Amino acid sequence: MAQESPNPWLAPALATLVPYDPGFTQVDVLLSANENSFGVPEDVRAAMQRATEGIALNRYPDPMANELRDAIAAWHGVSRGNVVVGNGGDEIIFNLLLAFGGAGRTLIDCPPTFSIYGLYAQITGTNVMKVPRNADSFELDTDAIDKAAAQANIIMITSPNNPTGNLADLAWVDRLASSTKALIVMDEAYVEFADEGASSVALLRKHDNVCILRTFSKAFGLAGVRCGYLLAPQAVVDGMSAVRQPYSVDVCAQAIARVAVERREAFIPAIETIRAQRELMIEGLNAIEGVRVWPSAANFILVRLPNAHEAHLRLRDEHSILVRDFSRTPGLDNCLRITVGTPEENRRVLDAMEALA
Ligand SMILES: *Cc1c(COP(=O)(O)O)cnc(C)c1O
Repeated sequence: MAQESPNPWLAPALATLVPYDPGFTQVDVLLSANENSFGVPEDVRAAMQRATEGIALNRYPDPMANELRDAIAAWHGVSRGNVVVGNGGDEIIFNLLLAFGGAGRTLIDCPPTFSIYGLYAQITGTNVMKVPRNADSFELDTDAIDKAAAQANIIMITSPNNPTGNLADLAWVDRLASSTKALIVMDEAYVEFADEGASSVALLRKHDNVCILRTFSKAFGLAGVRCGYLLAPQAVVDGMSAVRQPYSVDVCAQAIARVAVERREAFIPAIETIRAQRELMIEGLNAIEGVRVWPSAANFILVRLPNAHEAHLRLRDEHSILVRDFSRTPGLDNCLRITVGTPEENRRVLDAMEALA
């Protein structure tokens, strides 16, 4: 006899769900969630405060967020009809799977990668076809994806990938888009930290099955505001309109994100500092005995070291530094992901890692 569910109300299909756990605890140096330690530049923050001051809090937000969509569309050279905004990129991923996944449909997921895809696939009843990355380099197995694509409805390609930091080959994405009918979702949550030309934005104009996910949570330092967006063909935008919760992006988030778009140049100095610090951190971590470091195009670094789980606990408890422990994730044995913070935070990480070694 089947074991009785511990929760008699829970839908049977969801009984094995493991809730997303970012592993958060209060520490001095918080480098576990790929947030931007620099936050929003002061004058931009003042502009955000002014933008939210006069807002009617008793009125529902514009359900279409049209002013924000227009600002995003102008920035990327597309039309309003090619933009969806959401309560964080996460909501957009959820809605993509609701609209284009579901029972009898298949998502290609390329682990190790962002675990939210698999979780939301399970919630929405979408089949997952896993096409693992190379176990050593974490490069995509492009031949295997090419073959699997015929059976897929959605292909998630994370570039830069979280938590491994590497980019997808855009020439290959271009060929894949031509050869498959599946919807290709390029998750570019970290692309602002990569070199010029890393984005697949140009593929939007060329293909009717490519969409690009972006967020204000990382480079724009607005993780607390919960706003992300998708650039996509009109048919994808229309499909998502049907499933989305109309007021998920609140009035303050819409106003704040608009200022972020208008003042996007003001975020470049912090992004440049993070990029430079990333290279210094890679060098510093590489110099520590027993630590393997992967290159990164994002604002975080993946490392492998002996007894990583214990190292994570000691960083937290002895040094008040929180990094992300992936040591129990398949394919990421003994791996930790360290967000690149301010120079002071990064120095503390290097000192602590040296003390552990
Ligand atoms: C952070 C992240 C997102 C989106 O985050 P939101 O805060 O929900 O906008 C999407 N994809 C990846 C890979 C991420 O790491």
